Amino acid sequence: MSQYTITVMKNEKPKPKPESDQLAFGKHFTDHMFIQDYSREKGWHNPRIVPYQPLVLDPAAIVFHYGQTVFEGLKAYKTKDGHIQLFRPNKNMERLNKSNDRMCIPPVDEEFAIDAIKHLVHIDHEWVPDAPGTSLYIRPYIISTEPYLGVSPSSTYQFIIILSPVGAYYEEGINPVKIAVENKYVRAVKGGTGEAKTAGNYASSLKAQEDVADEGYAQVLWLDGVEKRYVEEVGSMNVFFKINGEIVTPALNGSILEGVTRNSVIELLKYWDIPVNERRITMEDIYQSYLNGELEEAFGSGTAAVISPIGELAWEDKKMEINNGKTGEISKKLYDTMTGIQYGTEKDPFNWVVKVK
Ligand SMILES: *Cc1c(COP(=O)(O)O)cnc(C)c1O
Repeated sequence: MSQYTITVMKNEKPKPKPESDQLAFGKHFTDHMFIQDYSREKGWHNPRIVPYQPLVLDPAAIVFHYGQTVFEGLKAYKTKDGHIQLFRPNKNMERLNKSNDRMCIPPVDEEFAIDAIKHLVHIDHEWVPDAPGTSLYIRPYIISTEPYLGVSPSSTYQFIIILSPVGAYYEEGINPVKIAVENKYVRAVKGGTGEAKTAGNYASSLKAQEDVADEGYAQVLWLDGVEKRYVEEVGSMNVFFKINGEIVTPALNGSILEGVTRNSVIELLKYWDIPVNERRITMEDIYQSYLNGELEEAFGSGTAAVISPIGELAWEDKKMEINNGKTGEISKKLYDTMTGIQYGTEKDPFNWVVKVK
């Protein structure tokens, strides 16, 4: 059998599906999952779709000890006329391989991985919710499975895809959040793993998140790990500012995660002839533009929220209210257009959408 033939074992005991008003983020899982194995001798082999089930791993598996693992996150959307579609899955698989390279994990075949996603989503298509703003979150990931306590790359891996129906990110429409600039902890440094979607980055961010949550902030804004001067990201989203009519976002520098949503925002702004620039941005720049009355909008970008407007930014003892704490015009336009393309109600000038069924 070809290494590209996916065998399917149907789940004979499908679960009841949650009501769409019961959906949160990442709490419910569908009836099936995809698994493929890797060994040095055989490469990636035995791709299969099986009933959703626990994994059986050796307690010495490298992933548990040294975190050699990568993941991705994208969504399937149901259109009004009942089609199911993905948003730029090629970008996610391209990034998966970049993360793999950084983590010494063997690359996957990107085209095949997209086929595997489509096949799995097709089998569980009844799990794609159709209430406004809901979607099916897709989590591909790779774990190192060799039982070995030495610090070295694993010789065996599993590539797994699971699916989770998720509720609308905004229950009552797009809504600004309060963000605290993080001055103590850092997320990533150049030369580290910030550019890769790998577990350790998120484990190390929990403490900062927990500390500011107590003070009523939704997320932290990360600064560069060396000088703590340059803006990098907001929580697990990329970040944009509108300053005196120009949209700016930190240039990719080796420690920033290259978001698919970030790229899409930049492409859309260029398409609309709205000035957009990728460059280094200091926190002093942001504060100065705020004092000058030129800080017009700020927002995060990521698959989960699409666009998350920032209504207040706290930096040391200074508090900056942005656009009176309301969603800005560009933020709203980006959100409406992007979600419109995803749900098939807006035209898709870039051919970003990939049909599953
Ligand atoms: C996933 C992620 C993003 C956003 O990427 P999208 O592809 O737009 O979802 C941004 N920053 C970090 C740290 C991330 O993990």
